[in-house]
Amino acid sequence: MDFLCLDFINSQWYNNHQLYQELLRNPGWINDFLTKWKLGNEFNLSEGNINQLCKLRAQLTELIEKISSAQVLSPAELDQINTYLALTKVIPELKYDNIVYTLELTPLVKDFNWLLAQIVVSFTELLTKYDLARIKICQNPACKWVFYDESRNRTRRWCDSSCGNLIKVRRFRARQRNK
Ligand SMILES: [Zn+2]
Repeated sequence: MDFLCLDFINSQWYNNHQLYQELLRNPGWINDFLTKWKLGNEFNLSEGNINQLCKLRAQLTELIEKISSAQVLSPAELDQINTYLALTKVIPELKYDNIVYTLELTPLVKDFNWLLAQIVVSFTELLTKYDLARIKICQNPACKWVFYDESRNRTRRWCDSSCGNLIKVRRFRARQRNK
């Protein structure tokens, strides 16, 4: 399962893996991200905007770390989230498309603040509409990829099998050393 907020948070993984770059500073990645999540392409991100995105990502990462270890967010942390949500004003609109009615929240102004708020809306939906016990961080300490565990018994511990195998290999070697 794919979540806008997790895509956003996981962009930091590439700082230390595979691409070794800050994807928030990569216009190609930003463009793909905005297109994938239908956020529009009218944002001409300034250096200040990118710094704000980096700050938001660090904040959300801290909150995800708490959630994934079954801690409750503090009132100050809820305030942090609500401050972002308050950055945008929306008008609820009933729409009809493809034989279904939908409730859409149309922004008064679709600016950078709206973009920040959309990322936080996705985070809020994750916390309010999904199973908190399935929000996890890969247990490979060198990885820390954030994912939503869809396994039947909620027992997934690693982002993918290669991370799991890596850990298993390390454990095996450690056991060998201790013999
Ligand atoms: Zn991993």
